[in-house]
Amino acid sequence: MNASKLQSELKKKAYLRGKSFRFARFEPSFPDDHTFCVFCWARISIWDEDLREGYFEPESQSWICDVCTEEFKQPFEWSIDRTNDSAWKRLMQHNAIDSTIL
Ligand SMILES: [Zn+2]
Repeated sequence: MNASKLQSELKKKAYLRGKSFRFARFEPSFPDDHTFCVFCWARISIWDEDLREGYFEPESQSWICDVCTEEFKQPFEWSIDRTNDSAWKRLMQHNAIDSTIL
């Protein structure tokens, strides 16, 4: 991402700076319920073609996909609770397997 795009995101989404996110699986409140990543508009729902999980900020009720979380967590100074993060656990398992091969 170029610097001016990042600056514009930091300005537009100033309400998200320094916030805490936690990993969560999307739970619909009604049958067609869904949400979107506030940065890239990836759809998050229980449907097969969508993301099922993301990072959630409760004050602003914002969801962010894992790709955007990685991209923006440093400039936005997020703290991320990975307690229930199955994607993170899969990555750690993968790394553990890699290191036993080496
Ligand atoms: Zn995204």
